[in-house]
Amino acid sequence: MRLAMLRTQDGTTKVAGVGLDGRYIDIREIDNSLPNSILEILEADDGLNRAAHAVAQGLVKGPFLEGTPLAPIARPGKVICIGLNYRDHAEETGAAIPTEPVVFNKFPQAVVGPDDAVELPAVAHEVDYEAELVVVIGKGGKNIPKSAALSHVAGYMCGNDVSARDWQKGRPGGQWLLGKTPDTFAPTGPWLVTHDEVGDAHQVRVQLRLNGQTMQDSTTKELIFGIEELIAHLSQLFALAPGDLIFTGTPPGVGAARKPPVFIKPGDVMEVEIDGLGVLRNPVVAAK
Ligand code: MN
Repeated sequence: MRLAMLRTQDGTTKVAGVGLDGRYIDIREIDNSLPNSILEILEADDGLNRAAHAVAQGLVKGPFLEGTPLAPIARPGKVICIGLNYRDHAEETGAAIPTEPVVFNKFPQAVVGPDDAVELPAVAHEVDYEAELVVVIGKGGKNIPKSAALSHVAGYMCGNDVSARDWQKGRPGGQWLLGKTPDTFAPTGPWLVTHDEVGDAHQVRVQLRLNGQTMQDSTTKELIFGIEELIAHLSQLFALAPGDLIFTGTPPGVGAARKPPVFIKPGDVMEVEIDGLGVLRNPVVAAK
């Protein structure tokens, strides 16, 4: 199942199912017990199953909605990111292959959705793209064993771990936060695609195009730490909650590793495409 958050023509925000033909299904007209956000559906008892029933009922006859997709989870409780998690990307940056996951975070307010502008802060001069598979937690928990980890996954989205390299490297004190969390630096979407529809998320192609030119093209087969391992590792230390996001790391081809380096500038358009998860497109502008 694919779920989206829509801004409809009358300016309201509505949760919708997404048909394979791209039409948006008004699932709350079919089941009015469903809450009006993906996050609340994840938090509700049996919410994803109820939403799936509504989507199945509405696929052919609707009712349908018109609108533009927003970030599927606009304000996740946590945005957790994994660094250097592709063998081939670790090699291109000259870093050693990590022996345990490299973990950092972004503030939830960095999240934006499809077609939202990524705003370059005036003080950041080396801003880069990173195409990433984003895991969305469905069922929360602590000390989740690897064997049960996938039952805590609601699904997946495309993500772009936008990164100001001049704030990430070496300042302050080696912490990555300031380079990773400027406002708008966490585009996600266009939909949440549930785990059952994606199947094995360790077999999907991940691409990034900059102004139509392919800059990253790899697959999640290259992940050093898989999804089960990440969930087990993180939840030893803190509880995961419904709607938490895990950016799983980026493949090779980032701008900073190119010779000469490529950084994004106003007027650029970034597109992240992941098999089965759609295309996440974001224009780049200078922050006002
Ligand atoms: Mn990243």
